[in-house]
Amino acid sequence: MSNADNTLFLRLAGPMQSWGTSSRFQLRRTDAYPSKSGVLGMLLCAMGVHREDSRQKLEWLTPLVMGVRVDRSGSLDWDYHTAGAKIGIWQADRKKLKRTASTGEYETQLSRRQYLYDASFLVALHGLADTVSACAGALDSPIWPVFLGRKCCVPGEPVFVGTGSFDTMTDALSSVPWRPRIDAIDRKAWSATRTLDTFIEHPQGIPTPGDARLVHDVPRAFGFHSHGSRWVVAGQVTVPVAEATHKLVAEPFARRVDYTSPQWKAARASRLKLDHDLCVFCKSAAEHVHHVSYQNVGHETDSDLRSLCETCHDACTMLQYGHRMKTHTVDPSDPAQRPEILQQIKRLLAERRFGRRRELLKAARTASKSFFDIEPGVTPGKVQ
Ligand SMILES: [Zn+2]
Repeated sequence: MSNADNTLFLRLAGPMQSWGTSSRFQLRRTDAYPSKSGVLGMLLCAMGVHREDSRQKLEWLTPLVMGVRVDRSGSLDWDYHTAGAKIGIWQADRKKLKRTASTGEYETQLSRRQYLYDASFLVALHGLADTVSACAGALDSPIWPVFLGRKCCVPGEPVFVGTGSFDTMTDALSSVPWRPRIDAIDRKAWSATRTLDTFIEHPQGIPTPGDARLVHDVPRAFGFHSHGSRWVVAGQVTVPVAEATHKLVAEPFARRVDYTSPQWKAARASRLKLDHDLCVFCKSAAEHVHHVSYQNVGHETDSDLRSLCETCHDACTMLQYGHRMKTHTVDPSDPAQRPEILQQIKRLLAERRFGRRRELLKAARTASKSFFDIEPGVTPGKVQ
């Protein structure tokens, strides 16, 4: 991050988001992409600015030009909310709690709220280097937690992405590669680039294009809900797909292996013979054959496989599936991977010993419980 950068990037992604600009009373909608009031509100949270003090800070923040890239549009749905059940809600003058006319009980407020589920946006804020640097500092180490439009909408990944210097907003939004969710990769329809929708604020003082849309989401002060408007132009950018994802697709990891096929039995027997039925890692008797590559599933060669004992195989599999989130294969014959596998074997053995200790403890407690049962006048404690 350089202090002269004129653009700040935010990642707004999470299970739920809500960016209402037209919410009225009991019906609270969300827009299809983040609003400027929502994003600036988030920055004020990160800076720890109270609503009452927001006016001055907003005068400083609103000149930032905002651009949104829709990385994943998500789905829209409604949620049903109740507030004040059994404890009541205040009347407008805050003197009495509301009661229902028919029963006299405390009134429950009902509302329907709309959310964007599982969406992901890249937001860029373009402006003076001092403002960008102050916002980046606040987001990197926020005073209050930040939310994706409402307090129930918790970010699913870090909001602060970074800063950079760009001539135009389109350049800025094109500079960050697109990253699909690993579980949603479509290997058949793979492409090295991706075209994404954008919503870019049109800077003031330049004639507005005919297709610009007027949006009333420029906050003047929070607490009074007074909003100004801005022009937003819809467009598209084509961006590269993140390199890590390329690798994942070039070598698909979790290919299904038919362990009952005669071909697999032959490949397995061939590798065991090559390793003299010994574990390649610890040289004890091999019981398993491990995949170091899934490139040739269905017609594996000796170089795709390694013989392992049960413990070493468990350790390699745990590393592969757990710690490395299925993105790498583990090769027990690679000296560079040896320390990590050894560490995992140690952990595994320690856990197994813990398991044995737990069994012993449970047996001891069962024994002491029967002791209490036969002692008259002694109340057994809470034995787990
Ligand atoms: Zn072994």
